[in-house]
Parts: sequence; C-alpha cells; structure tokens
Amino acid sequence: EKLSSAEAIALEDKHGAHNYHPLPVVLNRGEGVYVWDVEGKKYYDFLSAYSAVNQGHCHPRIVGAMMQQAQTLTLTSRAFYNDKLGVYEQYITNYFGFDKVLPMNTGAEAVETALKLCRKWAYEKKGINENEAQIIVCENNFHGRTTTIISFSNDENARKNFGPYTAGFIKIAYDDIDALEKAITSSPNIAGFLVEPIQGEAGVYVPSEGYLAKAKALCEKHNVLFIADEVQTGIARTGKLLAVHHENVQPDILILGKALSGGAYPVSAVLANDSIMNVIKPGQHGSTFGGNPVAAAVAIEALEVVKDEQLAENSERLGKIFRQELANYIETSNIATLVRGKGLLNAVVINDTEESDTAWNICMKLAENGLLAKPTHGNIIRFAPPLVMNEEQLRDCVSIIISTLKSFEK
Ligand code: PMP
Repeated sequence: EKLSSAEAIALEDKHGAHNYHPLPVVLNRGEGVYVWDVEGKKYYDFLSAYSAVNQGHCHPRIVGAMMQQAQTLTLTSRAFYNDKLGVYEQYITNYFGFDKVLPMNTGAEAVETALKLCRKWAYEKKGINENEAQIIVCENNFHGRTTTIISFSNDENARKNFGPYTAGFIKIAYDDIDALEKAITSSPNIAGFLVEPIQGEAGVYVPSEGYLAKAKALCEKHNVLFIADEVQTGIARTGKLLAVHHENVQPDILILGKALSGGAYPVSAVLANDSIMNVIKPGQHGSTFGGNPVAAAVAIEALEVVKDEQLAENSERLGKIFRQELANYIETSNIATLVRGKGLLNAVVINDTEESDTAWNICMKLAENGLLAKPTHGNIIRFAPPLVMNEEQLRDCVSIIISTLKSFEK
C-alpha cells in the first residue's frame, strides 16, 4: 500500500521522536543527482544527505558491492576476523596515507573515537597527568550529537538541559591563528586541536587562506595533535580529496564518515600513524558493527568511484561555475548578499536575520521548483549536490536557484 506525502508525514509526527526539522517532502527513490517524492515529483538533490551522497544516489557500483557482500556475510562482530576488513584497511590507509585505521559507523562515533585516541596519546606519549588533558575546539563547531560532543557546542538548542557535560575542552575563535597560539601555549596539558577545515553546519564558513597550514605548524611545534574532522568536507566534496589538501596539510588524526560509503550504509573511520594509533590496545575500544564486511566492501567501492569518476576535479570545476554565476546575480540582488564555499560545498547568505524564516521559505519555494536544499540558519542556505553532477545539470540548477531568489526580491 502506497502512502501519500501527507500520510507519511502524519505517521512520523505521531510516532517519531521530534529530533529534526525536515522540509515537508517525502522521498522514495533516488538516482544520481535526482530524488523523487511519493507523488512522483522529481527534484535535484542539493543537500546530498548532508554531503554523504557525493557519489550520487544508488550508485550501481556501490549498490552492487553492497548487495554482493550482503548475500555472502554481513556481520561477524570483531570477535572474529572477516576476510574483507584487512583488505579495506590496507586500501583506505594507502588511499589517505596513514599507517592505521580504526573503523566506526557514524560521524559522531568517529569524533568520539578520535577524542579518546588523542587523550590516551597525551597520557602515554606526552606525559600529561591522567584526567588533565585539554583539547582545543572552535567556536560554532559541529562534530555530532553525543554527550561529550555537545559539551563544547555553541548551539544552545542542542545543548541545554542535556548536561552534565564532559570536561577537558578549551574553545577558541575559528580562523584565528593568534587565539590558537595563545591557547596552545597557555598550558602544558594541551593534547590536541579538533577542527573542521570548513565549518559546514556553521553555514559553510571557509577560513582564511593559510589558516590550516599555520595551525598544523603550530601543533607540530608544540607537540599537539592536529585532528581534522572531514566528515562533511572530505571525500572530494570541496574540490580536493580532503579539504586540508588545499593547504597541503596531513592531519595527525583524520576523521571520515558520510560519503565514505556514498551514503549507502553507515561507515566512518579514524586514521592515524602507528606512533599515535598504537596507544589503543586490544579491548580498549570497539563497536559491534564497526569494520563489518558490508561496510568494508561498500567503502572500498565508494572510494574507487571517487577516483575513477574524478569527482574531486568535477567538484572543483563545477563549484567555480556555481560561485561565479551566483556572484554575478548577487551584484544586483537585494535578497542574496554573498556566496561562499569551496568545490561543491557552498552557501548563499540571504539579506535577513539569523532568526528569520526567509531561508526556510526560499527552500520551500526551491522544492516547489524542483530543487531540494536546506538552510543552516534563518539567513543561510547550503548548496551541496552530489559530485556526479554534470555542467548542464549544474547550469539548470543555477537558473532554478536564481529565478527562485528573484521571486523573493523586494
Ligand atoms: N562532524 C561533522 C563535521 C559533521 O558535519 C557531522 C554531521 N553533519 C558530524 C561530524 C556527525 O556525523 P553523524 O551525523 O554521522 O554522526
């Protein structure tokens, strides 16, 4: 029996916990850059499940790898070895240039893993007294929703009344190298610096050129781990395989998720070299599903697709066109004031307040016009399509976005 959109939404409203603000669109099919709702309306996807579906919806190679593995063996837990995990571990460590990987499932779980790893390293390798390690984080960060992670969030709505919070974090301004130097030198107990190379949920906030390279150099100088959360920015999203590659930075700890599976399956990972990763010993960390053979098969294929289809290059090229076209429009617009981003991770700033519902209303209109995007704030809309988009499709989308924005001009 087929549900209408209204029926599906009513079911969720009644029986689902109220933890998201979805646009009232009910999807039941996806292919490449397109998704369809239950009434059969076709849309360009300009969110890509928060940058998870970089390889496009239902990529046949990724689905094929998943189906094949699902028919053979899905889960053993890590109580035993499976024949896919080692192959995947070799593949992903070579791909990103690290000695070792610790496989997890979701982004937040991988961030938690990286924080644990950093602390243990600080106690065992840096000689910090137990329970005294401090990790530097940035204002307006987004790293997930666990109790520890919300402990250092600025999002009061996500944080308030969920305490008590986890101690051991120092928050500094993003994109402020002096603030980082001051924090790093403020105490001998600084273990790591956790940073998003571009702040996604903060509204696609791109730091100044040179910030990441300078931050890495400061961390190196003071024996502090540079931890890059590339859950949203990684896997070709910003026009390079990793966003830190724009500044030739190799993090000490790299966190990946989302598009590591092309959105087909929950797969996340923490990568580091032996000198760091070997502080975790058997029995000290784990997850029933982490490193399962389906995840391993899916992630290998998802990463192969990124290379074979040159998604980083495509993202870089189309991103430039997107920003150029929007910037041209913005010159004479009184509704949009700024376009920013890298590769195909971009945002348009709307001429209204953060608390307004203008961005939401524009997204509702975009949906009506066949394009799905979501605001990060009342005045910011993120645009992050699958990276398999071609130029003709992108130009079609740009004209939908501009004509929709024009209909909101005063
Ligand atoms: N880190 C970053 C930078 C993210 O953007 C997100 C998700 N938006 C996460 C972590 C959390 O990932 P997940 O939702 O898979 O837990």
